[in-house]
Amino acid sequence: MNFLAAAGARRLCAVRAVLPCLWRGKYLSSGNEPAENNSVTPMLRHLIYKIKSTGPITVAEYMKEVLTNPAKGYYMNRDMLGEEGDFITSPEISQMFGELLGIWFISEWIAAGKNAAFQLVELGPGKGTLLGDILRVFSQLGSLLKNCDISLHLVEVSQKLSEIQALTLTEEKVPLEQNAESPVYMKGVTKSGIPVSWYRDLQDVPKEYSFYLAHEFFDVLPVHKFQKTPHGWREVLVDIDPQVSDKLRFVLAPCATPAEAFIQNDETRDHVEVCPEAGVVIQELSQRISLTGGAALIADYGHDGTKTDTFRGFCGHRLHDVLTAPGTADLTADVDFSYLRRMSQGKVASLGPIEQQTFLRNMGIDVRLKILLDKTDDPSLRQQLLQGYNMLMNPMKMGERFNFLALVPHQRLHGRNHQTNARQSKPSPSPVAGFGELAWQ
Ligand code: SAH
Repeated sequence: MNFLAAAGARRLCAVRAVLPCLWRGKYLSSGNEPAENNSVTPMLRHLIYKIKSTGPITVAEYMKEVLTNPAKGYYMNRDMLGEEGDFITSPEISQMFGELLGIWFISEWIAAGKNAAFQLVELGPGKGTLLGDILRVFSQLGSLLKNCDISLHLVEVSQKLSEIQALTLTEEKVPLEQNAESPVYMKGVTKSGIPVSWYRDLQDVPKEYSFYLAHEFFDVLPVHKFQKTPHGWREVLVDIDPQVSDKLRFVLAPCATPAEAFIQNDETRDHVEVCPEAGVVIQELSQRISLTGGAALIADYGHDGTKTDTFRGFCGHRLHDVLTAPGTADLTADVDFSYLRRMSQGKVASLGPIEQQTFLRNMGIDVRLKILLDKTDDPSLRQQLLQGYNMLMNPMKMGERFNFLALVPHQRLHGRNHQTNARQSKPSPSPVAGFGELAWQ
């Protein structure tokens, strides 16, 4: 079936973010000086109190507190995405992004034998825009999915963003069920009648046949930072600046710290960032996929174990000093894809990372763009589509900095039956879409 043509028989979405906005994969300031904001925020007061009572904290603890402290964390009570916020992400830029990801999941579902049911699980769904675009593709390909029992599972720590996601996905057509004490803290039904549940932790999502999606999720998980010194690796810590009141500074731990165990023995860089929480999530995903099938698609900006100091902040579409006015700016670090692959511990097969421009081109973004352009004469919509395409695909913009990694069961790549004798003929499995050209079947 020609998925793109089928999905093309629909209206265009409303105009999205007006460009230019800043995307977080961006790393150098491109002439923008870091935004300065020296106010003593409630988070800064909280951290100073904490450091005074127990001593300097790791960068991972700093990042976790600043981003997801239940009361004052940056992510907890605000909408930071889009023009009015602090940064922009691919789904907020163009509907084509989510549509092509929707096709990826359907393609994997078909390749794996069209299971009678699946869960679509998204980690860190932002405003729910990406899921909304994916669900629209599911609706358009309804004849294909009509006998499949689909449910949505959103892993989100932010109260504010979960409310926005609910609005995007359900339009509150059916009242939401809320229970702050339960691992499933909210439940609803989407506009198209699909049940949707919210969790704070992946561990609480039912261990059923699932497709997992994580877009710009791993980069917000806390990293430990280490510096090589003549005395060996020393962890970078956050301390109070003794010279200036109400100011934080980086210091090196005087001796080895437990997190050093995460550094590889053969590490050649002199500065490294490691994200144990990302390792835990990957282990959980790999375990689930190896036991129940399905697949995970992970997209983020990152590197393959080569970069050093990537920890940075964003506020109001400008780079922001990470230690200034904590709680008012986003903090992020590039994802180390080599570490993610290592943490899958061979339980699943991994594909990629490959650059976003390659993945989207393989998924048929050029055809999709043409279909959408042919559908409208509205100059502003046409311009928005072209600008969005350029932002997603241009190697100087998001095309190269963002990468896609997929985790699939080993059987998906090597045929279904491990026991099959090599001389017996068996159908060769179809290639995984996006990581080779989309198969037109
Ligand atoms: N995927 C979205 C949003 C990316 S921003 C997009 O691409 O537009 C990061 C998202 O992860 C936000 O929804 C944030 O609230 C959520 N998040 C941050 N830390 C999290 C954690 N520890 N567990 C679950 N969600 C988290």
